[in-house]
Amino acid sequence: MANIKILGIVMLIDSYDRVVDYLRVSVTERCNFRCTYCMPEKPFSWVPKENLLSFEELFEFMKVAIDEGIKKIRITGGEPLLREDLDKFIKMIYDYEPSIDLAMTTNAFLLKGTAQRLKDAGLKRINVSIDTLKPEVAQEIAGKNVLKNVLEGVEEALKVGLKVKVNMVPMNTVNVNEIVDVLEYCKERDMSVRFIEYMENKHAKEGISGLKSPELLAILKEKYEFVDEGFDGTSPSHYYKMKDGYRFGIIEPYADDFCTKCNRIRLTAEGNLIPCLYFDEAMSISESIKRGDIKGAAAVLKEVVRTKPEKNRWGGDDDEISTRAFYETGG
Ligand code: SAM
Ligand code: SF4
Repeated sequence: MANIKILGIVMLIDSYDRVVDYLRVSVTERCNFRCTYCMPEKPFSWVPKENLLSFEELFEFMKVAIDEGIKKIRITGGEPLLREDLDKFIKMIYDYEPSIDLAMTTNAFLLKGTAQRLKDAGLKRINVSIDTLKPEVAQEIAGKNVLKNVLEGVEEALKVGLKVKVNMVPMNTVNVNEIVDVLEYCKERDMSVRFIEYMENKHAKEGISGLKSPELLAILKEKYEFVDEGFDGTSPSHYYKMKDGYRFGIIEPYADDFCTKCNRIRLTAEGNLIPCLYFDEAMSISESIKRGDIKGAAAVLKEVVRTKPEKNRWGGDDDEISTRAFYETGG
């Protein structure tokens, strides 16, 4: 199964009966940070600029995806704010279908000075990566002195009325002692925080030891009382609610049931459509889009949805490690 119409509504449905309505679009693999868990070194070579899809070409595919049943689009990267005229791309999507849930994931370094333009263009929400509130730890994780710009970017985003969520990747010996501090920083600003379990991959720096959900919960239980709220819709986050109503989430890709409700596919900046974050498999929409073959692009989209695997292999029994680069897929 890949595409059906129920009561006039078009939906993309995969072979495990999951509705796929969420597209993550990486607009560049380039990044101004060198995060240890993602891109500790500049890659041997970047995708040549001429292989990247222009915003007009990407937009042609966004229209196909929306017409086939995509309801949520998240712009990501690499660092999406490195790509010039991002606000114009956002506006193209918004003008085509204002009801689309338009979000972006960013390291926020360049957000100050751009947040208002992005909001005006139609962006609704952003997720910002904040792994620490200590400048020297931020330098250790990102490879440069980034914290001041990041925090100023977050303040500006809140000021212009963007909804902000924070992502933190907790790592032993690096930022494990800041889990409560980051939560408090978010709580004070009414931003939800999601702790992401470090996902092993071949591009990350060797020796990273990420915290798993039980370890995180043990740390948080020392300070807070909270109840397990389980999953919320198709969000990959397992939510917990504190006594005062504040909710935090944990993203647990190693858990058995993590993929049960997966509703997402990913598009790289050069037009490869990826059914699962873990695996290398992908199909290109680039040629169809470049020659204006809308039906061809739609056929690739349906095939990618049809071949979406049931589960990732994080936490599997074998020693295999994902070769997918997070900076390429957009996380
Ligand atoms: N540059 C933007 C940023 O950092 O938010 C967007 C791209 S980044 C690849 C998207 C998300 O992937 C970030 O929240 C980042 O923390 C997460 N990420 C990257 N590598 C990861 C890994 N190995 N394990 C878990 N999360 C990872
Ligand atoms: Fe860049 Fe985001 Fe990867 Fe860090 S996590 S290197 S900011 S793409």
